[in-house]
Amino acid sequence: MSLRILLVEDEPGVVLTLSDLLSAEGYAVESALDGPTGLARAAGERFDLVILDVMLPGKSGLEVCRELRQQGKDVPVLMLTAKTRLGDRVTGLKLGADDYLTKPFEPPELLARIEALLRRVKQGSLAPILRYQFGDVEVDFERGEVFKSGAAVSLTGKELDLLRYLIQHRGRVVSREELLESVWDYNPGASSRTIDVHIAWLRQKLEQTPQDPKHIHTVRGVGYRFS
Ligand code: CA
Repeated sequence: MSLRILLVEDEPGVVLTLSDLLSAEGYAVESALDGPTGLARAAGERFDLVILDVMLPGKSGLEVCRELRQQGKDVPVLMLTAKTRLGDRVTGLKLGADDYLTKPFEPPELLARIEALLRRVKQGSLAPILRYQFGDVEVDFERGEVFKSGAAVSLTGKELDLLRYLIQHRGRVVSREELLESVWDYNPGASSRTIDVHIAWLRQKLEQTPQDPKHIHTVRGVGYRFS
């Protein structure tokens, strides 16, 4: 049986192009042309994946994603964002999107993201992360609270965003460029050094032995990996 994908997008040209592309890959594609319809269908039917544009009539993709998660629906969501609206990506991930793609994108890139998401579903590593526990650390992303051995630890918003991204992509190497794009939104004031400093702070606050981290690993020459 084909995997079912719901495409929520209001631009007919994009709907047509993507539907053709995905059908050719063997997916069963359904489309919804506005936010409310997209939400109703994503919440009421069984889809393997939802591709959600941010700019939609009726209800934005961000609202659709938030309401979907609030209803306890954990269908994987791939958000489509515009390059000119950088904040949407981080907001989208915070609201429960599993990944995002910046428009315009090349078809192979979309297919690769979809495959990666579906692989993560298979591995059972995709449930939207609201709480997460590792070692003696407990993170409540919804409330923005972190506890280590039961004692509250204070993390800055950026540290929490970084930790969330690493945990969401746990088990794989995340490059500094990816973090600059996804967590810092290409902020011109941020550099590789910014990331390294934040990683050091996270380790200082959360690792038992910051010099010998057990969770936030450095992958030399590439980036970081959470495990
Ligand atoms: Ca749109």
